[in-house]
Amino acid sequence: MKIIAMIPARYGASRFPGKLMQDLGGKPVIVRTYEAAKETELFDEVYVVTDSEIIFNVIEEAGGKAIMSGKEHDCGSDRIAEAVENMDVDIVVNVQGDEPFTSKSGLEQVLSVFNGADADKIDLASLMTEINDWKEISDPNAVKVIVDKDNFALYFSRSPIPYPRDKNVAVQYYKHKGIYAFRKNALMDFYRLPMRSTEAAEKIECIRYLEYGKNIKMAISNTQGIEIDTPEDLVRANKVLKETKKVSVNNKYRNFPMVPKVVFGSGSFDQLTSIISPERKDKAPFIFIVDDVFKNNQEFINRMNLRFNDKLLFVSTVQEPKTEQVDTIVKNIKAEFTYAPSGIIGIGGGSILDLAKAVSLMLTNKGSAADYQGWDLIQNKGIYHVGIPTISGTGAEVSRTAILTGPEKKLGLNSDFTPYDQVILDPELTIGVPKNQWFYTGMDCYIHCVESLNGTFLNEFSKSYGEKAYDLCMQIFLEDNLTEQESREKLMMASWHGGMSIAYSQVGVAHAMSYGLSYVLGTKHGIGNCIVFDHLDEFYPEDVKIFKKMKKNHNIEIPQGICSNLTESQMESMIDIALSLVPLWENALGDDWEAIATRDKLRNLYLKM
Ligand code: NAD
Ligand code: ZN
Repeated sequence: MKIIAMIPARYGASRFPGKLMQDLGGKPVIVRTYEAAKETELFDEVYVVTDSEIIFNVIEEAGGKAIMSGKEHDCGSDRIAEAVENMDVDIVVNVQGDEPFTSKSGLEQVLSVFNGADADKIDLASLMTEINDWKEISDPNAVKVIVDKDNFALYFSRSPIPYPRDKNVAVQYYKHKGIYAFRKNALMDFYRLPMRSTEAAEKIECIRYLEYGKNIKMAISNTQGIEIDTPEDLVRANKVLKETKKVSVNNKYRNFPMVPKVVFGSGSFDQLTSIISPERKDKAPFIFIVDDVFKNNQEFINRMNLRFNDKLLFVSTVQEPKTEQVDTIVKNIKAEFTYAPSGIIGIGGGSILDLAKAVSLMLTNKGSAADYQGWDLIQNKGIYHVGIPTISGTGAEVSRTAILTGPEKKLGLNSDFTPYDQVILDPELTIGVPKNQWFYTGMDCYIHCVESLNGTFLNEFSKSYGEKAYDLCMQIFLEDNLTEQESREKLMMASWHGGMSIAYSQVGVAHAMSYGLSYVLGTKHGIGNCIVFDHLDEFYPEDVKIFKKMKKNHNIEIPQGICSNLTESQMESMIDIALSLVPLWENALGDDWEAIATRDKLRNLYLKM
């Protein structure tokens, strides 16, 4: 049986003009619908049939197949009938252009009726879904359907059918969903048959099939699609898209980018000018985003070697980087310069490295950075960006994320466009780091390794990086027989390898809980991880023991009692944030993580901190 999908797409829609060309997560609605239909793999071919050159072109550009319909049609089925007239097919499925989340299961159900015992009797099949809310039952926008004992349609109406004269009789109401699967001959028979008055009165196309004696078999669907009829629907659809993307991260085979260019070695910072000069575009400045701890270090500033209209922005890292902060910097750059910058240079610790990555991305992606917190939401390549760490441990110099605190959550801009185009690893730049901070940020690296190496996502790729970084951390923080220079160089490479290790796995319990601290109390990442990790013997017993030894060797105090005065709502929100980081828990504890990481368990742990 040859089965094809046809997506009728009219440009002008009375309620929401041009709706099929509206942006849904960076692509027009109609392209999303097309791709969704293709992804089901239920069809031999998928076509969009349209009266609009704009839609035709956008589908062709997306690598899809589009057909221009020659004539004026007053309904989608006629448009389809014209298109399939000369095609050799058995079943034609009409997929609504404004239902970008057309689910595979719904389509499978419609198609399955053609394999049933009464298949011979079926001219076309369609879908219905149970409705129970009287508001919806009586809403004329929802088309109701009643069926016979074998689920053949008896009638469609905008009125509630059946009418509930006896309210004690239990009846199930069904709403019709506009997906049809036609036998080709039924579709052709029907083509251009004149509309009769019942159809005209109800304004329901499928009544015509009944009026001309066709058998419509109804399949029951449980999935609720989102039809885009209004601008509000579009906003909702955009949200749904982000949510579904978030959980569909491919953990098994990740195809991720690595930093394409990196230079290492004491004094390598002075290569910066020659490295970036080929990237300099006429009149377009480089923007240097630098930790303000270097504000009075004139010698270091001179080495940055700013030219022409390059701009130096000192940024405080007292607080974790925020989406709002990114938006402001981007707005100011756009206001000050007519040309997009030649590049963004981030010089500092994890905070600055993440901020600079985010600024580079948000110069080319519309809206607020908060719109892109999550996995793979960024649509466009950012501006050329260079990362130069001045403290080691986070791995932010290699990673595929830029972690930001937003209005609703603390979550990174995770995308293929996030990693730096160029990194300069100069261990000398880390010389002035205060001892405590050196430890906290260094422990971030140690904890990355522990969480990656003990995680369920671990594979040989991650392991080889994680083990190397873990070993380096042992030499640096436990064994204590390195010169300062060796220690600096090793920690810089540990940070790199630790970051690479999580590129293919994920962090775990300490990070999830530390994000909670950070979101509610503003606790910074490195110290927050240490505060949490100190209490995680249940999850990482051996490694917590080693951590305590490292702490002792270096005389490091970890703050205590920071959660003792939390209000109930702060505690709840801390737990919410921690639990929202699903991939981290999945990595740490496997698919059944929810049974282990209960709200009570998290509360008790937080109370100890
Ligand atoms: P940081 O960037 O906030 O810097 C910590 C402190 O060290 C700051 O006070 C800074 O001024 C100071 N400092 C940095 N370099 C110095 C130098 N050479 N001399 C003197 N002082 C110096 O801290 P961090 O631990 O490097 O980074 C934490 C941030 O990194 C967090 O925002 C966290 O979310 C992020 N992070 C990102 C990733 C990622 O993959 N993108 C991974 C882990 C952490
Ligand atoms: Zn970290």
